[in-house]
Amino acid sequence: MTRARRITVLGSTGSVGVSTLDLMAAIEAGGGEPFEVVALTGAGNVRRLAEQARRWRPRVVVTADADRLEELRAAVADLEVEVAAGSDAVVEAAVRPTDLVMAAIVGAAGLRSAWAAAGTGATLALANKESLVCCGPALKARVASSGGRLIPVDSEHSAIFQVFPHDRPETVEKIILTASGGPFRRTPRSAMGAITPEQAVAHPNWSMGAKISVDSATMANKGLEMIEAAYLFDTPSARIDVVVHPESIIHSLVEMIDGSTLAQMGPPDMRTPIACALAWPGRAAWPAPKLDLAALGGLTFEAPDLERFPALALARQALEAGGAAPAVFNAANEAAAFAFLDRRLAFLNIASVVAETLERVTGAGGQFSAEDACRAALQVDAVARGIASDVIAEMAAAA
Ligand code: NAD
Ligand code: MG
Repeated sequence: MTRARRITVLGSTGSVGVSTLDLMAAIEAGGGEPFEVVALTGAGNVRRLAEQARRWRPRVVVTADADRLEELRAAVADLEVEVAAGSDAVVEAAVRPTDLVMAAIVGAAGLRSAWAAAGTGATLALANKESLVCCGPALKARVASSGGRLIPVDSEHSAIFQVFPHDRPETVEKIILTASGGPFRRTPRSAMGAITPEQAVAHPNWSMGAKISVDSATMANKGLEMIEAAYLFDTPSARIDVVVHPESIIHSLVEMIDGSTLAQMGPPDMRTPIACALAWPGRAAWPAPKLDLAALGGLTFEAPDLERFPALALARQALEAGGAAPAVFNAANEAAAFAFLDRRLAFLNIASVVAETLERVTGAGGQFSAEDACRAALQVDAVARGIASDVIAEMAAAA
């Protein structure tokens, strides 16, 4: 008898986490391999976390919020499950023996646990793009030296991963990332000043967490993804293009040196790239939504507008500067996106905060040593976040 596949889901209560558990249930219901859940972690949403624990019976359930330990303990009192709280407990859960870790915490808060999981030899299914942006090369090296495997979950990178000639990288000419363009693809700049958080989180094609939805609206998400692609596929900035494709059917493309271009397609549903990460190099059967090309009729493409979406150009600048600049970009963008969600910052100022923070942070060009990469990235993150907060406060005072 084959033993159940052990899985840990970090950030199980978020959009990607919920999709992951949904998909696992669908795979099991279809007679696919059973899963054994080792650890589930969340933060504020203790009720959802407790429901998930009831359904999946993990060995350990953790809330990152240290103040919610008793609440979580009470909510799962009738279950045989270890309960813990705080960010160290999340890291501890990430290194429990398992076959696969889904890293789906949002933002730089997911870095320590992704880094910890990367050292265990388990497969790292990485949704938390921010950790790749902050210390991509070192994170990749850490997974490789622990005997594990890193599989991207971000739909674009899953697409590239699926068509990339891994044993012949020199045959690749270019990576072409597709972008939906977000909810403001057609909004004139003159109307962008008044954009509200409610409008920004209403993505036309994808249902996602609040932070990544804001990132999609500013196109900072595509900027983060450009950096993510550069590190994942060892490809320099000059060989990564972005094309806006509003239907989100082609998830990205790889252009070969002989003029052949390979694309991966599918309906915009995160469960498909998650399924790919769970089963790779196999494929998991589940009642997936499938493409109906005739019903779609056509696919459209256009160049991104870097004037209305300056975050994309800033990300390229950070990638080309190298060293810690991508971590600075990430921290400033994260601080600015959350300030916008809190109504402390205007939409158009998100990119201005990033530009100003990149300008003010000095010494961000140094190289990290591999063992220290996580700690160094967290230091850069804290410094950049502090500066970004100052910039946000100055902007609020001037408004
Ligand atoms: P989300 O906001 O819906 O969920 C975030 C999860 O992280 C929740 O479980 C939350 O409890 C947990 N969390 C929040 N703060 C935490 C902290 N300080 N410490 C520990 N845990 C914390 O986010 P999401 O949309 O699911 O995105 C998760 C990650 O996946 C992000 O890095 C995002 O860029 C990436 N991603 C998401 C999608 C998507 O469709 N949602 C697509 C591609 C990539
Ligand atoms: Mg994506």
